[in-house]
Amino acid sequence: MTADPGDDPHVRQSLGAYVLDALDEDEARAVSGHLQRCDGCAAVYVELAEASALLALLGEEELSPGPPAP
Ligand SMILES: [Zn+2]
Repeated sequence: MTADPGDDPHVRQSLGAYVLDALDEDEARAVSGHLQRCDGCAAVYVELAEASALLALLGEEELSPGPPAP
């Protein structure tokens, strides 16, 4: 038996939507399961999640431009 990547396709094209919580429940479950088995996709997911968090922070700053912290 040889490993067929088609049986367990990588989910990198779905990770963007997964980070944004924009996937169907079934798709999100499939991505979540794959991330637990695939270090490569998990690393991509961490990068996307960090970028998403940074964008959220930038958005908040734009909405509430307070004085700089001391
Ligand atoms: Zn993968």
